[in-house]
Amino acid sequence: MQLEIVKYGHPVLRKKGQPVAGVTPALARLAEDMIETMQAGHGVGLAAQQVGRAVQLMVVDVRGVTDRPSSIELGGQEARVDDFMPMVLFNPAWKAAAAPVDCMEGCLSFPDIFAEIRRAARIDVEALDIRGQRLSFRCGGLIARVIQHEFDHLQGILFIDRMMWEDKDELRPQLEALRESTQAELAQRAVAKR
Ligand code: ZN
Repeated sequence: MQLEIVKYGHPVLRKKGQPVAGVTPALARLAEDMIETMQAGHGVGLAAQQVGRAVQLMVVDVRGVTDRPSSIELGGQEARVDDFMPMVLFNPAWKAAAAPVDCMEGCLSFPDIFAEIRRAARIDVEALDIRGQRLSFRCGGLIARVIQHEFDHLQGILFIDRMMWEDKDELRPQLEALRESTQAELAQRAVAKR
């Protein structure tokens, strides 16, 4: 089932996600719905906060992107990225395994807003997969960037918090307009519910 993507200005985007004790059928179902929602939105990643749930869960699928390569290593062995897609990560954690690089980024909660963000080029990741099994791998390129971006969402951190000051200043009118339209819509819905 496709879910509604929450836009900037919605308070849930600032909530830290609760860790999951285990992957229940309901959580696995949420992950499946998030994959469907991400793919419909042509996104490469989605965090639970973006569908209104403050849970430590992200989904990733980089198969649609051909001009920005991704790599995955398992136990020092190069693996096929496509074999891991779509990827579901519960309770993810990561550590940098290479220096940071600057690259353009967008976000499904910020339509038409893009900026260069500095993130580690390669990272080591640990998480639980959709069956609740422990997953541990090293990744680089686009997928490493996506996982760091979604990990931030799970902490209530947004990519605007990591933009260069000049970029954010330039985008401020667009950001303000988006925040205001989201909040106006939320207020309207609250009235409609009464
Ligand atoms: Zn995002």
